[in-house]
Amino acid sequence: MPSYRAPVEDTVFLLEDVLAIHRYDNLPGFADASADVIQAVLGEGGKLTEDVFAPLNLSGDREGCTRREDGSVATPKGFKAAYDAYAAGGWMGLSVPEAFGGQGLPHVINTAVQEFGCGANLALSMYPGLTQGAIAALLVHGSPEQKQTYLPKMVEGAWTGTMNLTEPHCGTDLGLLKTRAVPNGDGSYSLTGTKIFISAGDHDLAENIVHLVIARIEGAPAGTKGISLFVVPKILVNADGSLGARNAVSCGALEHKMGIHGNATCVMNYDGATGWLVGEANRGLNAMFVMMNEARLAVGVQGLGQSEAAYQNAVAYARERLQGRALTGAQAPDKAADPIIVHPDVRRTLMQIRAFNEAARALVLWTALQSDIAHRSQDAAERQAADDLLGLMTPVVKGVLTDRGFANTVEAQQMFGGHGYIEEWGMSQFVRDARIAMIYEGANGIQAMDLIGRKLPKDGGRAMMAFLTEVQTFVKDHGEDAGMTPFVAPLQPALNDLQAAVMWLMQNAFSKPDNAGAGATDLMHLLGQVVLGYMWGKIAKAALAAKADGRDAERMDAKLVLGRFFMERMLPETGLRLARIKAGAETTMALPAEAF
Ligand SMILES: Cc1cc2nc3c(=O)[nH]c(=O)nc-3n(C[C@H](O)[C@H](O)[C@H](O)COP(=O)(O)OP(=O)(O)OC[C@H]3O[C@@H](n4cnc5c(N)ncnc54)[C@H](O)[C@@H]3O)c2cc1C
Repeated sequence: MPSYRAPVEDTVFLLEDVLAIHRYDNLPGFADASADVIQAVLGEGGKLTEDVFAPLNLSGDREGCTRREDGSVATPKGFKAAYDAYAAGGWMGLSVPEAFGGQGLPHVINTAVQEFGCGANLALSMYPGLTQGAIAALLVHGSPEQKQTYLPKMVEGAWTGTMNLTEPHCGTDLGLLKTRAVPNGDGSYSLTGTKIFISAGDHDLAENIVHLVIARIEGAPAGTKGISLFVVPKILVNADGSLGARNAVSCGALEHKMGIHGNATCVMNYDGATGWLVGEANRGLNAMFVMMNEARLAVGVQGLGQSEAAYQNAVAYARERLQGRALTGAQAPDKAADPIIVHPDVRRTLMQIRAFNEAARALVLWTALQSDIAHRSQDAAERQAADDLLGLMTPVVKGVLTDRGFANTVEAQQMFGGHGYIEEWGMSQFVRDARIAMIYEGANGIQAMDLIGRKLPKDGGRAMMAFLTEVQTFVKDHGEDAGMTPFVAPLQPALNDLQAAVMWLMQNAFSKPDNAGAGATDLMHLLGQVVLGYMWGKIAKAALAAKADGRDAERMDAKLVLGRFFMERMLPETGLRLARIKAGAETTMALPAEAF
């Protein structure tokens, strides 16, 4: 059975040394996150996910969810107790304001714990993950009454949340949606329509489910300008907060799918269900974007979590499995063969995954920190700069970490040879589970379009310019430092590639939008490589400083080797990406549809 160990030490190093989180102790909630608190929270989060979530991963996959005759959904054995342990531990509200029962800690700490959950048991971690997203949307757009009605219960974990966007005929193009909302005359609306693929749409983990649903109010304009957001509880809530009658929303079917079997993916039928408008009428997509942006980062974290879990199991196997001899002569002459970890090609694979994971974790935490600054800083300029970076990095975290995360689960599976293909080893589950992260919350092609079409040109390219300047400054500041040379020198050509790509697109994409569309995925990965390289630069700097302090020399040396590996063998991919972008759309678009 596969195992999972939460990367607590590495995460603490990233927060304390690389990101120097205590620089932000002036922000609300940060001073409470002292070094001891961070250690304790991550340690406990690690234990919960290792001891309670991980042992249910394989069994949850095998058993899956079932829909009972009355339409209710049962989750796999053990999920309810695990969810209760999560809720009782106060994990749901880790970074929710205290006014609603949360602990008000920085979002970045919650994000770190999210990774542990996603690595240990993706299907299970999605139930609280979606709830946290729904909490975020209600915090920003809910009325005071809605916040009071729903948030404390959701933060407690007694009620969970969902996000209902997709319909049978539309997922990406939500302007086509058909679900209707008719005013009841008392401030509420009746919602009618069908939503599909709704994660955690029904289950037996909590006493109520708070659905956030997008629908079109009768007479609203067509397209995305006529979409409104509604809160629709599974069980209606009485004025005193107690649970009342069952609402007219139900799970019509469970989808049979490739992975995340322990998470209920539901067809949801709204048959005149009572709902209340969240935020302004016809501004629903705007409101939903709070949840979607939060969820996009969380889905990027899923890619990382699965990549990390798959890596850990691949390493364990590579140390044990005996096949062949090292090219340089036997390493374990007393055994029938050497462990496969002696082979350079096996090491290449493991190094590639690990060099990605460590930088991706840094990127996730750095981005989550921008979210904290954007929401909590008193300084408008600081807030804006952080919000710019957060916006720019959101499609990168979602798209790159899930594309690469999935590819890494395949690479890790490869380490097992034929056994990787056999279900009992659990490696195939990582592959199956990780695959969805590339699709939901906006397929990765859409993330790339969001980057190139929206985030890049926004405010005259301010966010990208600020990022390029930040990396360039880092290169300049450390260019003379001999210890940093292996990390800084390769960053400059990669940065040049990114600059050249942006320049080429500015000159060639406005007049020919297909050039942007054809290069979007490459730009997303090019930016991803550069920011991961930048993260390695920051990690290397902190590792050198820690070594100079006499701390953890062996672990820091390993990081420096991994960083060099990334710089030498992974970062040069930027050149390939640039070449593809500059090739433009001509051949991509040349064939008529019938010729495919
Ligand atoms: C297991 C699972 C769980 C899910 N959970 C939820 C949930 O909780 N809530 C929810 O609302 N939805 C959920 N979804 C739905 C998911 O978000 C959508 O499936 C996804 O956004 C893609 O939409 P679609 O399936 O309609 O594909 P389509 O929109 O039909 O897209 C098909 C392909 O075309 C590409 N494409 C489409 N338009 C463009 C364009 N303009 N430019 C370039 N490429 C384009 C897409 O990238 C994609 O590759 C879930 C789906 C699954 C499978």
